[in-house]
Amino acid sequence: MKKVVKFGGSSLASAEQFAKVGAIINADESRRYVVPSAPGKRFSDDTKITDMLYQCYDLAEKGQAFNKVLSKIKDRYTEIIKGLKLDMSLDDDFETIKKNFLAKAGSMYAASRGEYLNGKIMAKYLGYEFVDAANVIRFNKDCTLDTETTNQLLKERLTAYEKAVIPGFYGAMANGTVVTFSRGGSDITGSLVAKAVKANLYENWTDVSGCLVADPRIIKDAEVIHTITYTELRELAYMGASVLHEDAIFPVRKAGIPINIRNTNAPEDEGTMIVSDTCRVPRFTITGIAGKKGFVAVNIEKDMMNSEIGFCRKVLTAFEDNNISIEHMPSGIDTMTVFVHQDEFVEKEQQVIAQIQEDANPDSIELESDLALIAVVGRGMKSTRGTAGRLFSALAHAHINVKMIDQGSSELNIIIGVRNEDFADAIRAIYNIFVVARL
Ligand code: ASP
Repeated sequence: MKKVVKFGGSSLASAEQFAKVGAIINADESRRYVVPSAPGKRFSDDTKITDMLYQCYDLAEKGQAFNKVLSKIKDRYTEIIKGLKLDMSLDDDFETIKKNFLAKAGSMYAASRGEYLNGKIMAKYLGYEFVDAANVIRFNKDCTLDTETTNQLLKERLTAYEKAVIPGFYGAMANGTVVTFSRGGSDITGSLVAKAVKANLYENWTDVSGCLVADPRIIKDAEVIHTITYTELRELAYMGASVLHEDAIFPVRKAGIPINIRNTNAPEDEGTMIVSDTCRVPRFTITGIAGKKGFVAVNIEKDMMNSEIGFCRKVLTAFEDNNISIEHMPSGIDTMTVFVHQDEFVEKEQQVIAQIQEDANPDSIELESDLALIAVVGRGMKSTRGTAGRLFSALAHAHINVKMIDQGSSELNIIIGVRNEDFADAIRAIYNIFVVARL
């Protein structure tokens, strides 16, 4: 059994948190490859090390004094080293960082030092080998990941070590230039390592006990999802539910390695298993609910629209030409509606409308703004009759007017459109009927 374990910033924000992480790793021999993030927030208005590094480098780049911020960063690491009673010093590392900041090594280099230094501490603390991600995570010249080479390099390096720490979030080009993933990218490093070492499991440790059925800001004490498929997770993530960096899914998914989301502060909780497929019966008919506010519906009407060849294409071209992405497109016989993001659309609405008028010559175009989309996702919906019936009667009882319904042909999700102001109430109504009523 071989596990790759990734710990997020809040799991490594202080010596106390490090100690919890150490206990988790030592409790299971198979936790052999460790991917740490940089220290995150210790309390809600604390600053993450990564953000401090960006700020610090910003000063350096402008030629302003940055020593104060850099020494604040150093203090955070020193506190951790002292708290763990480790015999090590980062003096030389900070000298190098200072020199490289003065030489304008770039903001990606700057940000990557958060994980680099934390990785060094972690390796020392655990007695594991330290493998600098710059030597094993390879980026192309355009800053995209070189997946093949990365897999090869990781395999070669890591098979040499029984146990190792590989810092998350960054790698380097062949010439040594450091490159980072986008924010939250340590999740991707963990996934790449898991694939390369052919891990049985990729454990992703964070500060919540797994993915929740609904946003906890709307549903207090929302239930945890025990098992979710990659496809379901993608649907929910797209609609705003975030537990993992979205690019972290692909490497392990292809290799058939499950991800287990766990809570460093409650290691006894089983968390959420993310799998390719499962025959486990879901706890509830629905797996999760997620949604976003801020859409506009562009309603287009034309008599005999359905028999006019090329009508839809002409309408859609108007959006494409103005670089506006389309979210959903329900249609009737003589009507079609295009859902777009309000903030993207607002600047260009007049151009789009003019082009639709010109090219497609509809009878009318009406805009309805301030709409929200909610995705109700669940592999269990396919085999359960009456899901849509229950869903819409729950919304009707809550006096919510449904503006749009779109069920994917896979029966994995139902998307509904409501007014922005009904968003939270709609989610509560759906949660109550499918989850609370079943507890
Ligand atoms: N430290 C980086 C960030 O704050 C990457 C990560 O934590 O995954 O985004």
